[in-house]
Amino acid sequence: MLTNFHTHTWMCHHATGRPIDYIRAAMEAGENNPNKDTFSALGISDHCPFPGDTEYNWIRVKMSCDQLPEYVADIKAAAEYAPFPVYMGFECEWDPQFLSWYKDELKAKWGAQYLILGAHWFIDKYGDHAYIPNCDNRTDLHTYFDETIEAIGSGCFDILAHPDLPMAGIDEWDDDLKACFSDLIDAAIDANVPLEVNGEGMNRPQKMTKNGLRYQYPFLEFWELAKSKGATFMANADAHAPERLLSNTKQARGFATELGIECIQNPFNNLK
Ligand SMILES: [Zn+2]
Ligand SMILES: [Zn+2]
Repeated sequence: MLTNFHTHTWMCHHATGRPIDYIRAAMEAGENNPNKDTFSALGISDHCPFPGDTEYNWIRVKMSCDQLPEYVADIKAAAEYAPFPVYMGFECEWDPQFLSWYKDELKAKWGAQYLILGAHWFIDKYGDHAYIPNCDNRTDLHTYFDETIEAIGSGCFDILAHPDLPMAGIDEWDDDLKACFSDLIDAAIDANVPLEVNGEGMNRPQKMTKNGLRYQYPFLEFWELAKSKGATFMANADAHAPERLLSNTKQARGFATELGIECIQNPFNNLK
């Protein structure tokens, strides 16, 4: 049985497919290989908008607030066709000024059943939302970790997507990084937030380092550290196209299996 809770839609401007297309892709996977590739749950989690759509250049990779009703309705309508539970969520960036947006709007008003923290940005010294893979200094990197750890502790988020995303911009693992990631893993354990092995990262162009080619993420040393600390894990596709749902999910799961990491199938089993 497979599950995936990290799925995008056409609304974010850098993915394709509507919720129904992902449900169909999940159903077809099971029909083609019923023993191995049957999905038992699917979560749709497109990049969330922020109030006023004021995220400057980030607005280009998100739906706008006025698309929220359509997003919610589309998922509800599509879920009727699914032979498995379909969950409605969002993938969110962290900015503490939006604390009430996550809780009172996305969850309470719009009915999101879960929120993924996909920390792509950090708030830099100019107050801008800077993309972490482009970070070129340790001061900013430490800011990223401080902010992401604050986000994990906020109680707003149910899954931490690609926790090793900073390694997309860094060549080598070192003691400082190990300490930063160690604090991040501890925060996730304390908050009971599973860490996500991300299938999409395995399909990004690989990174050349002095030790050879590797994935931008998942980054092996991070996962070995998280395993040794007793974190909880999920494997998700981060699908940006319906045809990538099955392959990304299986790749993420394969990475986890190879490392001897056990993944939670469905953390939302108790939700209706
Ligand atoms: Zn995306
Ligand atoms: Zn994503």
